[in-house]
Formats: sequence, structure tokens, C-alpha cells
Amino acid sequence: MALINEHFLRLPESYLFSDIAKKINVFKVTHPKAEIIRLGIGDVTQPLPGVVIEALHKAVDEMGFQETFRGYGPEQGYRFLIDAIIKNDYENRGISLDPDEVFVSDGAKSDTGNIGDILRHDNTVAVTDPVYPVYVDSNVMGVRGGDLLMDGHWSNIVYIPCTAENNFIPEIPEKRFDMLYLCYPNNPTGTVLSREELKKWVDYAIKYDVLILFDAAYEAYIQEEDIPHSIYEIKGAKTVAIEFRSFSKTAGFTGLRCGYTVVPKALKGFTLNGQKVALNRLWNRRQSTKFNGTAYIVQRAAEAVYSQEGKVQVKKIIDGYMENAKILREGLKACGFQVFGGVNAPYVWMKTPRGMSSWNFFEQLLYEVNIVGTPGIGFGPSGEGYLRLTAFGKKEDTIEAIERIRVWRV
Ligand code: PLP
Repeated sequence: MALINEHFLRLPESYLFSDIAKKINVFKVTHPKAEIIRLGIGDVTQPLPGVVIEALHKAVDEMGFQETFRGYGPEQGYRFLIDAIIKNDYENRGISLDPDEVFVSDGAKSDTGNIGDILRHDNTVAVTDPVYPVYVDSNVMGVRGGDLLMDGHWSNIVYIPCTAENNFIPEIPEKRFDMLYLCYPNNPTGTVLSREELKKWVDYAIKYDVLILFDAAYEAYIQEEDIPHSIYEIKGAKTVAIEFRSFSKTAGFTGLRCGYTVVPKALKGFTLNGQKVALNRLWNRRQSTKFNGTAYIVQRAAEAVYSQEGKVQVKKIIDGYMENAKILREGLKACGFQVFGGVNAPYVWMKTPRGMSSWNFFEQLLYEVNIVGTPGIGFGPSGEGYLRLTAFGKKEDTIEAIERIRVWRV
């Protein structure tokens, strides 16, 4: 008899985006002619850059000839891509990495979700709240969640609220913890941490042996000068942090699938009797056992992102999304809403008016102006009273959304 991991049963049945889809479907039945603008799910809408398409075609052709065909590749990724990553994403910022500290994967969701494999089940996990749900749910599956409480918190997880009241800057909690997820630029709030604020967390982690899991999936959206792109820009971070990156939002790879994770060799975990072990060794073992590498053609496509032409094309796409973010941010502000984020991230986090709940405001926007956002409560208890809008929509839709809200608010 196979016993199941019953912690899966502790997770609430429905997932945020399926709840949203259900509500939209109900609305569509009663309002078949309404033209809905979707600024909810954080998926990109622009097609892949030309250099990526060219690289894909070329790599596909290679697969058709005996001399250039590739079978299984290295589980950790091909050197051509790892070298391009190190040179462009790290050395350009004064960070040196060895090739075997970078692990290419099929995206940051897998890596942030799987990293728990190499960590004990009884570590205490801390997350900023609101939070990208994968961090919490994967730890519930990994037996680190405890019980789901009535207020939406998991009993064994330490929540660090990030709200307008603390300017979305997480404060070090009193409760101790062993692992901390940080995501900057942040999904869902669209806010960032300054160098000093990030340094505060790295220093804390060094002092108390905390492992930081730093998700930099939106790094490419940083516009302001002094915002760190990598946690390794902070002194000592290589001894406490794993960094996750993704080509999804950087270069439109949400459907193509490629990301990478940096596990520095200086980063150590502990056995129960206090022996230090390099997490790099464990992650390498985990990947070699459970992952068979990202497709060659996809890695060639990712490599193309770093070409001179690739950088120009990618920047153009990101600039377009950031223009949307500006339209949303400024448009909503002009309508009297309190708005956060959207300066260094493709997400705008708005406060619901008159203390409305996230779901009530979601429905009001859907029914009155036919715009879909994401209720903040879906990202954690501190997201209540907020709604997330994404800048990944088409520009004309973004403009139209703001125009509808403007007319509605008059
Ligand atoms: N991390 C964060 C914070 C995200 O918002 C997302 C996607 O929305 C991911 C990771 C997933 O990225 P990927 O497409 O590389 O799996």
C-alpha cells in the first residue's frame, strides 16, 4: 500500500488563478458582449525577440545532421550558455563565478520549488508577505508549513509583512528562522530593496546562519541606478545566498522555458551534528539525479539573448512593458488611487479604495469596467486590501484600461 504525502492534502484545493478564471467565466455568461481587458496573470504578451527565433531555427537545423546532432547534454547546462551568463549577468557587475556554480534549468518556478529537496524538513521558513505562492506551497509539500490557520497563515512559516505602512520594506522579525525567501524586484508588489536594505538581510544571515533564497526573476526590469541586480553585489552574500534567475520575463521565455540558479561553492549548510556541507554539491547531486538538462535548442536561444543584437531587442521589449507600467501607475494616481511598484518592476500594486476587500474590488473592476486584476489576498494575508495589475498587457489595452477607469471614477 502506497501511503501518500498527506501534506499535499493540507494545501487549499483551488489555486488563485483558477478562482479568477471561474469568476471571469461566470461574468462572461451573463455579459457575453463585454470586452474584457486582462491585466491579471503575469505572463508576457510580446513575441520572442528576432535573435532568439534565429537561434532556435539554427539549433533545430543542427539537430537534423549527424555531425551536429545533440543528445543528452550536461544536466547543469552547456558551457556556452553558462559562460555567457557569467560574463554578462555577473562579471559586468564585478561578481566572479565559477562555471560549476551556475545550474541552467527549465525556469525559476522549478528551481524555487525544488530547492527544498536539499534542505531538512524541520527548517523554519520565512517569507515576505505578500509572496509568490510557490515558496509557501512547495514548503508545505516539503513538510515545513505546519497547519493552515483561519487567518490564512501557515503555523510553521514566519511571515514578514510588506505593506504601505512599512513602505514595503521587510523588517527583521523577532521569531527565528533558518531559510528566507526574498524576491526583488518583488512579485506581487513591484517594489525593490535598496543596497542598504538588502545588506541588512545579508548581514543578518551571516550573523545567524540563515540561508537566503533570492529570486531575481525580474532583475531585468530595474531602471534605477542604485538598486542591486544580484544579491552577490552585497559583500559576503556568496556565503549565505542562492540566487534564482529566469529568461521568462527577461526575454519572453515563459513558453520556451529556461532559467538558472547560482549556488556558490562558499555556501554551506549544516548537518544535525553541526558539520558544514557545501550546498553546491547537494544541488549538483539533486539536479544530476532528477533533471536531464534544458533542451539544447532552448539553451542556444537563451545564449542569443546575450548577443549585442539580442540585448538591443530585449531592452526594447522591456522598455515597452515599463511604459505600460508608467501608464498604469500615473493613470491610477491621477484617478486618486494609492499605487506602489511599477518603477523597477512590471507590476503595479494598488490599494483598494475605501478599505474594500481584494476580492470585492476585483469583482467591482470586472463588472463595472471589465478589467481583470489579481486580488492581493491571493498572495498572502498582508495582500488583503490590494490588487495587482501587470504591465505585460498590450499597450493599447493598458491605455484603454486606464481610460475606462478614468471615466468610471469621474
Ligand atoms: N519567480 C517569480 C517571482 C515569478 O513571478 C515567476 C513567474 O511568474 C517565476 C519565478 C517563474 O519563472 P519561470 O517562468 O522561470 O518558471
